[in-house]
Amino acid sequence: MTIGILALQGAFAEHEQMLERLGADYFEIRQKKDLERDFDAFILPGGESTVMGKLLHELDMFSEIKEKINAGLPVYGTCAGLILLAKEVEDGAVQLGTMDICAKRNAYGRQLGSFVAEEEFKGIGKIPMNFIRAPYIAKAGENVEVLAKVDGKIVAARQGNQLVTAFHPEVTDDVRIHQYFLEQIVNK
Ligand code: GLN
Repeated sequence: MTIGILALQGAFAEHEQMLERLGADYFEIRQKKDLERDFDAFILPGGESTVMGKLLHELDMFSEIKEKINAGLPVYGTCAGLILLAKEVEDGAVQLGTMDICAKRNAYGRQLGSFVAEEEFKGIGKIPMNFIRAPYIAKAGENVEVLAKVDGKIVAARQGNQLVTAFHPEVTDDVRIHQYFLEQIVNK
């Protein structure tokens, strides 16, 4: 199993460490030709969704990535990655728009928006959740399965091949979300 990790900006190295711990092969997607490789899934990391969206256009990768997702390639988006996938965005521009969710950007404030929670994730149990200037999901379509909530707000969800979390499991020691992605979505 080989996982591509979008490595233009943001927290991609932390995802690499998670995959390393789980024994999955990975490579960095940095330019258009990297998309020609054979891979089974990919990760859109946290960072700044506006910058990542702009770079995807500048590097001419935007349409190909969108097509791959629409064709069913599994994708996991964390934080800014969630925003990139959302079909609707509050306080920001729609980017790939492949997932039927409305993301509220910087939903917890820009400066003091970082905190840690521990909540139930459907099918896994209680997990630590690190929020860093995070969005939440203000609305989810009927094909979207809600996987976790914090204070009544949706913070993790899945729609077919697409998994998103508003928080960053890759900055914790807990590999269970990545394991869930590999086992429940990629290896199906
Ligand atoms: N606030 C960032 C954005 O809008 C997301 C923050 C993050 O990925 N940690 O893209």
